Amino acid sequence: MSKVKKKVKVIKIDVDKCNGCRACEVVCSAFHAKPKYSSNNPARSRIRLISDPLKDVYLPVYAGEYTKAECSGRDKYVIDGKEYDECDFCRASCPSRDFFKEPDSGLPLRCDMCEDDPPQEKPLCVQWCLNDALTYEEREEEVEEEVKPEDVEIGLGSMIDKYGLEKVMDTVARMAKKE
Ligand code: SF4
Ligand code: SF4
Repeated sequence: MSKVKKKVKVIKIDVDKCNGCRACEVVCSAFHAKPKYSSNNPARSRIRLISDPLKDVYLPVYAGEYTKAECSGRDKYVIDGKEYDECDFCRASCPSRDFFKEPDSGLPLRCDMCEDDPPQEKPLCVQWCLNDALTYEEREEEVEEEVKPEDVEIGLGSMIDKYGLEKVMDTVARMAKKE
């Protein structure tokens, strides 16, 4: 299978620089409000701040995949003397907590890197983070080229036109046996 170049978008989070201002939550929820910028309820934000000011813990987390069931992970991590729950780092919209759910409908939320309409050149949360706790990077990665079903159909159609359906079917059956 051939390889293609894919643009990968990355937001780097430096927890030591985050002061818990929550500007990222405000701008994200406002951008995704309907109509746009009509409200700024952080519960609708695709980035949430896990914070415990007494322990100087400020951890911005992005909304990722939806999951139906909660996992069993309850480990604790101590990093630079600060204690975090395993769930703190999790990006899932999951039944065990209220994060990353649209408050009215309960539908899961997911960060779209602001590829909403209109798409943003740089994620808004990064632009609004005045402490540089969030920085944006783009890099290229080589990935396997995705096989599109329509391309397979076009290829098969032209083979059938050229050799006839029976011959193509025979060949596929023979190849399947060899595998
Ligand atoms: S805007 Fe930056 S400093 Fe403020 S809470 Fe978000 S990540 Fe932290
Ligand atoms: S990248 Fe955009 S959609 Fe994702 S959390 Fe930041 S502001 Fe929200």
